[in-house]
Amino acid sequence: MVGAGPGGSATAYHLARHGADVLLVDKATFPREKVCGDGLTPRGVRAVQRMGIDPEEPGFVRIDALRTHGTEGFVTDLYWPKLRDYPRFGVVRTRYDFDNLLVGRAIKAGAAFREGVEAKKPLIDDGGVVTGAVLEQDGETTEVRARYVIAADGASSRFAGHAGVRRDETRPLGIAARRYYRSPLPQEPVFESFLNLWDHGGLMPGYGWIFPVGDGILNVGAGLLNTFKSFKDVSARKVFDVFLHNIPPEWEINEDTAMGPILSGPIPMGLNRRPLALPGLLLVGDAGGLTNPFNGEGIAYAMESGELAAELIVDSLTRARPAIAQMYPSVLRERYGRYYSAGRLWVHMIGNPTFMRLAVKYAIPRKTAMRFALRFLANLTDGKDGALEDKLMYWICSVAPER
Ligand SMILES: Cc1cc2nc3c(=O)[nH]c(=O)nc-3n(C[C@H](O)[C@H](O)[C@H](O)COP(=O)(O)OP(=O)(O)OC[C@H]3O[C@@H](n4cnc5c(N)ncnc54)[C@H](O)[C@@H]3O)c2cc1C
Repeated sequence: MVGAGPGGSATAYHLARHGADVLLVDKATFPREKVCGDGLTPRGVRAVQRMGIDPEEPGFVRIDALRTHGTEGFVTDLYWPKLRDYPRFGVVRTRYDFDNLLVGRAIKAGAAFREGVEAKKPLIDDGGVVTGAVLEQDGETTEVRARYVIAADGASSRFAGHAGVRRDETRPLGIAARRYYRSPLPQEPVFESFLNLWDHGGLMPGYGWIFPVGDGILNVGAGLLNTFKSFKDVSARKVFDVFLHNIPPEWEINEDTAMGPILSGPIPMGLNRRPLALPGLLLVGDAGGLTNPFNGEGIAYAMESGELAAELIVDSLTRARPAIAQMYPSVLRERYGRYYSAGRLWVHMIGNPTFMRLAVKYAIPRKTAMRFALRFLANLTDGKDGALEDKLMYWICSVAPER
């Protein structure tokens, strides 16, 4: 397992709990920082619960609703939908803590963990099967063999790149930046999201967030999609600066209250890596470009894809049928393909400033439309057997191609 972010740790945990022999490596030493908004929707909370962690334990900050700030001062609070398959709350926890907790859980389940170890490249036999990895620690190189190798090495995924995996340039990519601040305002259990990023009189098609981390600390960030026509001229830092200028002064988010530097990173979306598996190698989380194009949420999908990869590998090993693990890309497409196709259409629409302006102006004041948008954008649904909104969502996705 290369990479001990949520994707790698979830894969390691689910493999180990089935009794597989697992080695998890990460080039960083833990706990380590990861640039992120630190927010988990109920979908992410469910993935955490599936690792046997109680997201109501101290350290997690509970989130009951999404508060959306639109244009003309319009603000709306949307509570998470009541669903059969998901809890009715989200959480925030710094990735510094969160990722360390997940690694600990994987170790407890039986995975071996080596930190400060970089996987330099996969070992590939004459038949094109990935059979292990070259690891480097303190300048010393070793080779490790494995029946299956998981690339969970995040957005850049250089490791999988050595095996021929490439980014699909037609699929969306986001960029985002974040910084921590202290704020005197009492923290409310909401994700604050701002769609009113005004820049020189025009509305920028990005969004900003303020998430409560606890102890008076806020995670403040902003992001933009590459479907915006001026994307190449805009950095994550620029979107962040535009957002800061738009935050009302009572938040006291400024240089005096800042903690640490502004950090930024890419957000690969909508299954934007190809192929998602090679013989002996499976790509999990950001390495596979698995972030949800509708809302930029990646943690839940990294953990879900990790669990799926683990299940298929265990099945493959128990039945001695390698073909089962190779079904991973088609199972992923079956699970997310149509929804992500709809998401790709969505990111093209919101990349257009006129559409974005009209959507923010006319949709946000309409509670029913926004309640549906929350379900859709956060992929929170009970499927075709659920409520009317679930059926509508199912119908919309069913006409999208499964690619
Ligand atoms: C600014 C920003 C804000 C975001 N906000 C949110 C949010 O609020 N909620 C959300 O759900 N998602 C958010 N995301 C997306 C989320 O951070 C990712 O989707 C998520 O971290 C993916 O998890 P992962 O395990 O696939 O990869 P990562 O978390 O990136 O973990 C990869 C790990 O691999 C290790 N690694 C890399 N290369 C090697 C190597 N060669 N050898 C050994 N180890 C290696 C790294 O050290 C790292 O620990 C945000 C992203 C950005 C950039």
